[in-house]
Amino acid sequence: MTTRETGDTVHTDVLVVGAGPGGGLLAHLLARAGVDVVLAEKQSTLERSFRGETIAARSVLTLRELGFESALREHGFVEMTGIGQWEKGRRVMHIDYRRFPIGAVPIDIPQPALIGAFLDGSAGYPNFTYMPQSNLTSLVEEDGEVRGGVLRRGDERVEVRARLVVGADGRFSKTRKLSGLAVDVQPMERDFLWFKLPRPDDWGHDGNLLASGDRHLVILPAFPDLLRVGYNLPKRGLADVRAQGLEAFKAGIGEVAPQLTDLVGEHITSWKDTSFLEIFTTDMETWSRDGLLLVGDAAHTCTPILGQGVNLAIQDAVYFCPVIARALREKEGALPAGVFDEVTAERRRHKTMVTRFQRFQEAALAHSSAAGTAMRRTRMRVINRLPFKYRLLDRVLNAPHDMDTEDLHARA
Ligand SMILES: Cc1cc2nc3c(=O)[nH]c(=O)nc-3n(C[C@H](O)[C@H](O)[C@H](O)COP(=O)(O)OP(=O)(O)OC[C@H]3O[C@@H](n4cnc5c(N)ncnc54)[C@H](O)[C@@H]3O)c2cc1C
Repeated sequence: MTTRETGDTVHTDVLVVGAGPGGGLLAHLLARAGVDVVLAEKQSTLERSFRGETIAARSVLTLRELGFESALREHGFVEMTGIGQWEKGRRVMHIDYRRFPIGAVPIDIPQPALIGAFLDGSAGYPNFTYMPQSNLTSLVEEDGEVRGGVLRRGDERVEVRARLVVGADGRFSKTRKLSGLAVDVQPMERDFLWFKLPRPDDWGHDGNLLASGDRHLVILPAFPDLLRVGYNLPKRGLADVRAQGLEAFKAGIGEVAPQLTDLVGEHITSWKDTSFLEIFTTDMETWSRDGLLLVGDAAHTCTPILGQGVNLAIQDAVYFCPVIARALREKEGALPAGVFDEVTAERRRHKTMVTRFQRFQEAALAHSSAAGTAMRRTRMRVINRLPFKYRLLDRVLNAPHDMDTEDLHARA
């Protein structure tokens, strides 16, 4: 079908809701596969200052194989060399990303550049339509099937009729809410405040996690010459932290990371320099209904540990694209939920492995007693010395292992 407008109704094959990394890439890949696709995004621009910027090595490879490397290089990014965990000023764990056999390291690139590359790459496809400032407000449902979505574009109401609506609208997904699909939301023990600082010249390109009792900081090298810092807060503790004042907050950071004291003193001048992230995970047994599919954070929100959110969203796009393209060719009308079962099960395995590792780390980082933190240090040191450390972590960090993009082209 060719996307066409009749009055205030648009007819297409697939409506993708949300131009994040997951929705942006999926819409692009569908267009490449010859599918008529409308990508609706509620924001007017791609600007977003605090969002996942880490692209795991697996997705760096995927993007390279899909031909995005030159666009990403043109913008520029920071390659991460490794990640260390520190306790009481001592490094208890270190992973050198360059030692994995995968052939790529994680990179940091702002989301506008990544998603911009997907949109630029889609612009030449007449079967691709991008609709910014278009907020999904309801689903079109008939005979128990989803047949499209209603978008609010300023004062305008646009109905998009599609054989499949893909909810790629993030951690607070409206599509998920409207779908009625069951979701299990698990709050984590702490929340996060993110902020950015200039990166000193001699800082290096490793990420670092600094733990002190039950407080920790994640410090990541960010593009172009910045540090992206995440500081954990007690669950729903933002109001208390704010009530204690900015100076107390800055002093707390200095206690965990004395090397940041001067930078924080100079560059964090108001709460506007920080961004709050509520940490929770979601799990859904079913990601689809007839005529509807959820991908990315909408289907499975993770914690920031290991920076896997963007990776999972990108891999969802790569896995689901060929299935959607084939089902559109082989079936009629709204795509039946069952066509997604196999790939959903495969993607859930990947997500479950990531969540398990994140929960293990979250629980360890929440220890405040002397005995608990001593146990955490010892455990990290033991893992650090395991001869099969890289093999073990390769499974979690660089998954999935069983598909490459050649397969994607073959299946599309
Ligand atoms: C502060 C912060 C820091 C993070 N740090 C990291 C990190 O370091 N590494 C990492 O991997 N992950 C990180 N994450 C998570 C990461 O950003 C997400 O996992 C990733 O962006 C998920 O991609 P997505 O495409 O599924 O959804 P999103 O990126 O959330 O994109 C969803 C899109 O849908 C749009 N949308 C929402 N509702 C509607 C609607 N009703 N109609 C139309 N459009 C809609 C939104 O505007 C958005 O553009 C972080 C997240 C935050 C908030």
